[in-house]
Amino acid sequence: MNIPKSSFPRIIIVGGGFAGIALAKKLSKKEVQVVLIDKHNYHTFQPLLYQVSTGGLEPDSIAYPIRKVLKDFPNFIFRLAKVTEILTSENIINTNIGILEYDYLVIAAGSKTNYYGNKEIAVNSMAMKSIPQSLNLRSLILENFEQALLTDNYHERNALMNFMIVGAGPTGVELAGALAEIKKGILPKDYPDLDTRRVQINLIQSNSRVLKEMSEEASEKAEEFLEELGVHIWKNMRVTGYDGKTVTTNTEEIFEAATLVWAAGVKGVKMKGLDAKELLAGGNRIIVNQYNQVKGYDNIFAIGDIASMQLKDLPNGHPMMAQPAIQQGENLGENLVRLLENKPLNPFVYKDKGSMATIGRNKAVVDLKKFKFQGVFAWFVWMYVHLFFLIGFRNRIVVFVNWVYNYIRFDREARLIIRPFKRNYDAFKN
Ligand SMILES: Cc1cc2nc3c(=O)[nH]c(=O)nc-3n(C[C@H](O)[C@H](O)[C@H](O)COP(=O)(O)OP(=O)(O)OC[C@H]3O[C@@H](n4cnc5c(N)ncnc54)[C@H](O)[C@@H]3O)c2cc1C
Repeated sequence: MNIPKSSFPRIIIVGGGFAGIALAKKLSKKEVQVVLIDKHNYHTFQPLLYQVSTGGLEPDSIAYPIRKVLKDFPNFIFRLAKVTEILTSENIINTNIGILEYDYLVIAAGSKTNYYGNKEIAVNSMAMKSIPQSLNLRSLILENFEQALLTDNYHERNALMNFMIVGAGPTGVELAGALAEIKKGILPKDYPDLDTRRVQINLIQSNSRVLKEMSEEASEKAEEFLEELGVHIWKNMRVTGYDGKTVTTNTEEIFEAATLVWAAGVKGVKMKGLDAKELLAGGNRIIVNQYNQVKGYDNIFAIGDIASMQLKDLPNGHPMMAQPAIQQGENLGENLVRLLENKPLNPFVYKDKGSMATIGRNKAVVDLKKFKFQGVFAWFVWMYVHLFFLIGFRNRIVVFVNWVYNYIRFDREARLIIRPFKRNYDAFKN
């Protein structure tokens, strides 16, 4: 991998997401050699992926070059590579570009979409976990309308204009709201020869609440906002199959749809060498202690979505969200320095800063520790927080300007099919 030996101990960080970058920043001026490895050369701000999928933002405004994050840190090295295996007995990682020895290893490889073993859904549905996937979804949404123009068949047209979203967590809710706004504000202008009133947005949730991780107040208000926007919410329903055309559920209900977005769960990325049964909790997350140390290893750590720190009040670990990832990265950064100075480590204590979701223009829900609020003010808070955590000054300006423009013009100009998604439409032809 052409990485020079250093007199400082080498820390390898696998993953430049929220957790990996927060950790890297903490190690910036310390006497360590840090090698950050990611299979992408950019950091992705996942909370705004749905805006890329729905043409509200260009992908480069929510991505940031990892090399630029690290440019002022002389003790840092970045390699664009996929880590394929950890050889724990030799302190070596294996990647698609070679092997590398470590003194300390931090796994911050995040999570991936969880299909709960349903291969048919995995093959035929759309996921929204990365920028390429969001661009695929953007293309598919637009291609469906182009295709709908070409058919006179009523059922075929309906299926092409039917959007199924499975999972009413923040991702599903935000996507459903954005699609509903496109239906109202953009489709009638772009496709005057289609009856776009027939566009359906169906949001399916397996239990009785949308945004079930948030307060009841937030759930109720989010549901009200979604219904105002014309989203059909199906509660206590589970999708059991999707062959690319027909959606089956655990109820009598069956849907015909050209698009099914799977936002029903994530699981930890499996890392060969650290995937023994006794190391993993539910959802493939690596079990760690209060210092984010992987069970049985002094020099291997896991942080962020991939780590499960099981505590009395959190038996399933911390929520798979940006804040726990960032805070674990920061705490581990301080602890690695303490470890090198032979000082005792500080246990990780999560400061819950609350949660929020936006449903659409002037419509958001915010749960803070002491206050819960919904509506216009919540929407401004949501925007402020997302701009604040976005990496890069340019990105913040671009996103802000886009939001102001979209707000004033009721528009989403990035509705472009740049890289077509190759969907086989044969199934829709009778
Ligand atoms: C659509 C969507 C919306 C979300 N909205 C919110 C929200 O509103 N609020 C919130 O708090 N959280 C939200 N989240 C969750 C949040 O984004 C994650 O909890 C957070 O990204 C976890 O950070 P992480 O550093 O653990 O992993 P990630 O940010 O996923 O980073 C993991 C990194 O590891 C790299 N990687 C993975 N495997 C390998 C490998 N084998 N070799 C090399 N590199 C590898 C990846 O390329 C990636 O850069 C959302 C997530 C999604 C998908």
